Parts: sequence; structure tokens; C-alpha cells
Amino acid sequence: MSDDLTFDKTFELEPGRAEEILPGVRRIVADNPGPFTFKGTLTYVLGRHKVAIVDPGPDDPNHIKAVLDAVRGETVTHIFVTHTHRDHSPATPAIKAATGATVYAEGPHRPSRPLNAGEAPRMEASNDLEFRPDHALADGDVVSGDGWALEAVTTPGHTANHVAFALKDSNLMFSGDHVMGWSTTIVAPPDGAMSDYMSSLNKLGARKETIYLPGHGGPIREAPRFVAGLILHRKAREASILHRLSKGATDIATIVRAVYIGLDPRLTNAAGFSVLAHMEDLVARGAVATDGAPSINGVYRLAGS
Ligand SMILES: [Zn+2]
Repeated sequence: MSDDLTFDKTFELEPGRAEEILPGVRRIVADNPGPFTFKGTLTYVLGRHKVAIVDPGPDDPNHIKAVLDAVRGETVTHIFVTHTHRDHSPATPAIKAATGATVYAEGPHRPSRPLNAGEAPRMEASNDLEFRPDHALADGDVVSGDGWALEAVTTPGHTANHVAFALKDSNLMFSGDHVMGWSTTIVAPPDGAMSDYMSSLNKLGARKETIYLPGHGGPIREAPRFVAGLILHRKAREASILHRLSKGATDIATIVRAVYIGLDPRLTNAAGFSVLAHMEDLVARGAVATDGAPSINGVYRLAGS
């Protein structure tokens, strides 16, 4: 059933060069490729002459210069930030200082739930804890510029403050890291939460936008179908976890080895936290039991067994 889901690993754009990907939308890729960022983080420029920037990107002088070069002779009126991971938001102060643009986002970084006793804030290094928007967006807020309007679509799950932006009167959505075409999204507690992530997928699945422009990798076409595939993929993963538990597995490391066949070894840790995210969701729903709060080293069993 998850066979419907095919990832698109094609991406042709060298760092620093601005490319018009769709009419009125340019993109620039930062030079930060890696197992979590694919070919690099994408910064988008929306409009002409008076423009908006979506996701300024990492705090990299070369990337900041490339973005400012791309909008030379134009006025940047707005900056939108999808979420506060360090590859998306830290270039915001420099670009705001250079352009005077107003910054819009859902809010500062925060975890999806309070830390459990003895739990370390493991994603600290990936989080931009300095970030503050000028304007905090609520779900459904519409911000208009010169020839465009963006609707905030709150999509918690990857982070608590993740927001996608739908371009009004078009079929376009800036989907950030919530939906990407090259890979599934990292959902790692306490930064992320699986129940939020699934609700956010269901929310996007009910919308009409057909083309998504993600934070990493190429555009997603037939987006509603892709989102439906992502939902099935997570449900299949959940079924695999329950199956492993029914076969006697009790810990996350064993389940990762059984379920993630052919995994890039650099992603083993992230896969463990992804299984933990499922465990939190399954425990909350009463399908799985553990002693105390679900944790990465916890012992798990099917509820009622
Ligand atoms: Zn992210």
C-alpha cells in the first residue's frame, strides 16, 4: 500500500544561483547538503519588484549574499519562516537588516511537549532558539503583498511551530519540511510529535493545492496524492512496529533493525526517534504500554499482553 509513494531524488541547481522555478517564484539553494538536508535548504523569492522571501536559510554568508544578490534592485517587503531549524531561519536577522522587511512566522522555537524527567533536549543543536518573528501567525491568517497573498496553514509535527504557506488564487503551497518530495520528514520527540504530524498531513490532504514547493528538493506535483501516500506510509510503519511487538521485540533499537531495511547508517539515530514518535502516539492511543513516559531506551509491549 505504501508502494504508491515514490520519492524524487532529481534536483539540478548549483548553490548561489537564483532560478525561476515557476512563474513569479524564484529559488536559491544553500550549500548545506547532507543526509537531513538533501542537496541543501531552499530559499524562495515570491513576486517581482516588491517581493517576499520564504525561509531565509542557514547563517551562511555566501547564501545570504546570494539571496540579496537575487533581489538586487527590488524591495523585500516580507520574510516568511516555515519553522525554526537552523537550516531555515538563522539568516533572517541579516536579511531583515539588509532589506527592512517584516518577519512573519508562527512563533519562537518550542518543543512539542514538555521534557520528561531525565530527558535531554536532544535537538538543541538543530534549533534556532534566537528566532523571534515580528508578527506571529495563527492558522488561516492571510498576509498580502504586491500581487500575492499567502495564507498561513499551521502544520505542527516536524516542529511545534511549523507553518506552510498557501499562495492564494493559485495551486501552490510552500510546504517547508512538513511535506518533501525526496524523503519522508523527520518527526523526533520532543521537538516533533507524530500525532500532530499525522493531523497536519490530514489537514493538507483535504486542501486543493496541487503543487508544493518544499524546503528541500524539487517541486511536488499531484500533491494531494503524494500526501495520501505519506499518510499510508506512516500507517504501514505503525503496523510494522505493532507487528514487531507482537513477535516479541521490546525495544526501539531492535525494531529499527527489523523495520528500516537498507537504512543510511547516518540516519539510524533519527530512525530511533521516529519509532519513539510512533510509540508516544501508540501509548497515548492505548495500543502500546511502557513503564513511565515513552523513552528512547524504554521497554514496550502491546497493551493488554
Ligand atoms: Zn526542519
